[in-house]
Amino acid sequence: MDVISTRNPAHRATFRHALTANLTPDGGLWIPARLAPFDRIDALLELPFADRCAEILKRLIGDEFAAADLDALAHDAFNFPLPLTQIDAQTYALELFHGPTLAFKDFGARLLARLLALHDRDTTSVTPRMILTATSGDTGAAVASAFWHQPGVRVVVLYPHGRVSEMQERQFAALGDNVLALAVDGSFDDCQALAKACFNDAQLSAELRLTSANSINLARILAQLLYYFEIVAALRVRGVRQAPLISVPSGNFGNLCAGLYAWKRGLPVAQFVAATNVNRTVPDFLQGGEYQPRPSVATLSNAMDVGAPSNWERIAALFANHRGEMHAVMRAGSATDAETRVEIARLWQLGWLADPHAAVASAVLQKLRQPGELGVFLATAHPAKFPDAVVEVTGKPVELPSALAKLLDLPLQAEPLANDVAALKRRLRA
Ligand SMILES: *Cc1c(COP(=O)(O)O)cnc(C)c1O
Repeated sequence: MDVISTRNPAHRATFRHALTANLTPDGGLWIPARLAPFDRIDALLELPFADRCAEILKRLIGDEFAAADLDALAHDAFNFPLPLTQIDAQTYALELFHGPTLAFKDFGARLLARLLALHDRDTTSVTPRMILTATSGDTGAAVASAFWHQPGVRVVVLYPHGRVSEMQERQFAALGDNVLALAVDGSFDDCQALAKACFNDAQLSAELRLTSANSINLARILAQLLYYFEIVAALRVRGVRQAPLISVPSGNFGNLCAGLYAWKRGLPVAQFVAATNVNRTVPDFLQGGEYQPRPSVATLSNAMDVGAPSNWERIAALFANHRGEMHAVMRAGSATDAETRVEIARLWQLGWLADPHAAVASAVLQKLRQPGELGVFLATAHPAKFPDAVVEVTGKPVELPSALAKLLDLPLQAEPLANDVAALKRRLRA
């Protein structure tokens, strides 16, 4: 799969290069050079999930990885359930939170870890690879879990001190071994800027073999493409042929970008809903304003507290920044914390427990859908990861999945870090 820069198609490389090269030479993001529709979509949709994932990966990157490796990888990486749950007559939730860290970021992180292991198997280096990741909560957990104890890899997680849930923090700051957690005195946007500054330092990147596990890494986006196909496949299993309106709870917009790539590849989708909390950079733009990145505001759905979404550059490139073309396939809206709480309660009445991120997607879907439309929202995190918001509504504690419960007994091993690039570089080199 050839890839090009969002900023200049003359910067062209292989997918393997993009896997480890982080940003493009001109500071942009790697995107697929071609996004032609797949052949035989109907047959593809009839395959069981892991087989379908393997087949899609072969069609995407089979020119750079062996088919047998991709088969093994798909079955091993995605070995947890992915239910499409019916909420009411015309609404479904795709539960993406049954992986080891209970959020959808397990998909991207687990594919990335395995692709890097395959890639490094074919190359030799004595210097361990350093995975550097900025997180608003769930990325750090998924990446730390996916790479924990992986030989030849060190993981550094940057997170905004005091701005992630206790449960999220445990998931990356209590592991130890090859995982270092740095609690930054700043916001998620600050963490993201710190990571970006390191990746922009060519000497540091080479010296430490720095590799991004954030959604600037195209491998993460590819992993997410796979579950959009599952939505349509699972609807067909139920005899539903109507193309869905898919609501995506968005922060950095990697997830929505993956959905749009799936649509470009021929997946029958009616439209997408870009759903945010009050960090309305993208809805404001799509509703006619300027594209204006801004400082993020803390909300209940903290993994979406992003004011300068890094993957918007990919989506803008997909539509050559043409707002009219975006409108043809995307609607956008937002939900406040108050609306999010109301939605958690409404969904609970219907018999389904939502975390705040899924609730944002559902609330915005409700606002923007037309009568008769078939709605699907992505449920990106397990409600147990956000017990405070959930307990308020249900009046009883959420049962902790055992994977989470075990972590609560372990001590935190995070180190504090000033919001300062030089301090970070010193720590990484130490
Ligand atoms: C990261 C995250 C999001 C936002 O996804 P993006 O790809 O950054 O838009 C939504 N929900 C949860 C639970 C997350 O962890």
